[in-house]
Amino acid sequence: MKKILVIDPGHGGTDPGAVNGTRYEKDDVLKISLAVKDALAIYDLTVVMTRETDVFLELSERADIAKDNEADLMLSIHRNSHDTSLARGIEVCIHKKASSESKAAATTMLSKISSASSMRNRGVKADKNYAVLKNITILGLLLELGFISNSNDNKEFDSNFDSFVEAIVEALVEILDLKIAEEDKEEITTVYNNGHSPSDQKDDGKLRYEFGEISNSYV
Ligand SMILES: [Zn+2]
Repeated sequence: MKKILVIDPGHGGTDPGAVNGTRYEKDDVLKISLAVKDALAIYDLTVVMTRETDVFLELSERADIAKDNEADLMLSIHRNSHDTSLARGIEVCIHKKASSESKAAATTMLSKISSASSMRNRGVKADKNYAVLKNITILGLLLELGFISNSNDNKEFDSNFDSFVEAIVEALVEILDLKIAEEDKEEITTVYNNGHSPSDQKDDGKLRYEFGEISNSYV
């Protein structure tokens, strides 16, 4: 059965999330959520977004989207904030009543994203009572990709953006045991044969010749 992933970019619309000058959490998290969605396109997976534009959704609406779609995993993406600009680093959060599967998934996710940048690793936070992760029986992870209130975390977020996308995708592939979709596999094989392997091209010619012979015998 095709796995279903709900990606939930935090905040949106009238709710900017954490703010640092002209930088809004809702924009950072939407940008990276859309990039993760694009990077997942080659996998045999259905991705449902809670939002793809700058719109406001209640936390309960987000959880309902995961429930209604019978998702295997709900991935909420946020950036953190603190009164002091000294607070810094990444976290993976799970609900305080999360299953052992969610805990294992959080550990996998953290190990991948902690090597995507030089941001401090703040660990898995398993004491959260987030409404968006409440009452969902599926896997639920909430990422805090650095503090928007810390300028160095913002620099790390920007300069390692692609690494974060890659790390999140790698973690999802492991957690959900994702495979590359069949149609994409064929495309990849074709590109390889035509592009890089002279021996394959020879084989291809031979095959065509043999096919011609067979065809001739029937003419
Ligand atoms: Zn947030």
